[in-house]
Amino acid sequence: MSLTDFSLVAVAERGNGHRGVYAEIFIPAETVIGLFDGKAERFAVGADGKVDYRGHDSAMIMHIIADADFVYGLVPLPGDIAGIDFINHSCHPNCRVVGGLALVAARDIQPGEELFYDYRSIETHPESVMCWCNKPEAERCQI
Ligand SMILES: [Zn+2]
Repeated sequence: MSLTDFSLVAVAERGNGHRGVYAEIFIPAETVIGLFDGKAERFAVGADGKVDYRGHDSAMIMHIIADADFVYGLVPLPGDIAGIDFINHSCHPNCRVVGGLALVAARDIQPGEELFYDYRSIETHPESVMCWCNKPEAERCQI
């Protein structure tokens, strides 16, 4: 499981069947909220540029680095997903990931706010999925 400071945040339902990470208290900018972890693995990049995640849920893999042939990342251990593993994407985030591992408050965060980071900031191979970003469907951005 990820290392999460549960004095700062809690996981809660978002109301649409998905979970999110929410501030329990005021979190000052630059506070470290937790570290992502998992089993280090590498995944082959095909000639078409697509990554073979070998059946893993690609949305849960923290990309650390990539070269022409492989994406290197961390895969959460089965049944061991908790805390900041549930953080959602936003193109207008209030957190950022440092070093591929640490979740840090990018600005002051108020109690009850949902935490987000921009998945594009760490993904070496974008998933080409559409982001909701609180926009009308026609304006959804691609991550
Ligand atoms: Zn977006």
